[in-house]
Amino acid sequence: MDQGLLVPDELTCDLVMDRIQQDDCKNGFVLDGFPRTIPQAEALDAALSKIGQKMDYAIDVDVPDENIVNRMGGRRACLSCGATYHVEFNPTKAEGICDACGAQTVLRDDDKPETVQKRLTVYHEQTQPLIDYYKNQDILKSVDGTQPMEAVFDAIIGILGA
Ligand SMILES: [Zn+2]
Repeated sequence: MDQGLLVPDELTCDLVMDRIQQDDCKNGFVLDGFPRTIPQAEALDAALSKIGQKMDYAIDVDVPDENIVNRMGGRRACLSCGATYHVEFNPTKAEGICDACGAQTVLRDDDKPETVQKRLTVYHEQTQPLIDYYKNQDILKSVDGTQPMEAVFDAIIGILGA
């Protein structure tokens, strides 16, 4: 993950299947960021069908690449306590100093433009095909991810009917 690459399919799918069979998933579950590839989606569909379940919706939160690079570049993390911030959307009270513990905040390697760009390339090659995959299953919904966070949240809740 540090290199902006992805974790092997079987491992990820097994972890997800274990998790969604726990009691708190009886009434449903939301997978965030999985599946990320067609093989993962196929493995997930097959595994779900084995336990008599299926995906109800796939939600594409659509954000242009340049917005993503800018947003990630504004993220700051405290390596001491794990708190996360954003210079624009969730700034620390004192610049570069963690509100929670007073340590210095940093731009993580994961969030640096070159790493983000690498992940976007992987996204376009491997994940974007899922849009057609789920469109063909007639369960794809799209949400404009450039809206304020509350509007994105409301749109997703609206789709889920929750
Ligand atoms: Zn801290």
